[in-house]
Amino acid sequence: MASSSKGCTSKVNTVKKWKETLNADWLEYDDDGKVVNLLRCKVCTSKEERITSAKNFSRTFITGSAIVKKNTVVNHQYSDQHRMAVKLNLKETLKEKYVDEYVNENPIGQGLNKMAADDRGRMEHLFNASYTVCKEELPFKK
Ligand SMILES: [Zn+2]
Repeated sequence: MASSSKGCTSKVNTVKKWKETLNADWLEYDDDGKVVNLLRCKVCTSKEERITSAKNFSRTFITGSAIVKKNTVVNHQYSDQHRMAVKLNLKETLKEKYVDEYVNENPIGQGLNKMAADDRGRMEHLFNASYTVCKEELPFKK
């Protein structure tokens, strides 16, 4: 087992496997082709300024952790700061998704965009008329 005196390293393939088994898309690493010598968290790095208030906040996974052990990765994944960063990230992604997909790709959104203004007015009138008929329980013919 070759490990440096500073930290604990793992093979690139091992770290790749962690990424898969832990579902850790956030994991970034520096390697020398064989061995990983630094671990970083993509999400925490991008949200650094907004997660400093998290309990036990540490910059280990932002500047890069030299201890490349599965335990370190798991601990980070469950840390308050990481969950905070993931949540922030998710919120932003969902918001973008909402605008892009929901409005533009959703059939109703598309329909509304295409519907000409006068058509929309006519539809509104029809909806109101049928609503009144139902609500007032008016006979269809007088
Ligand atoms: Zn993180």
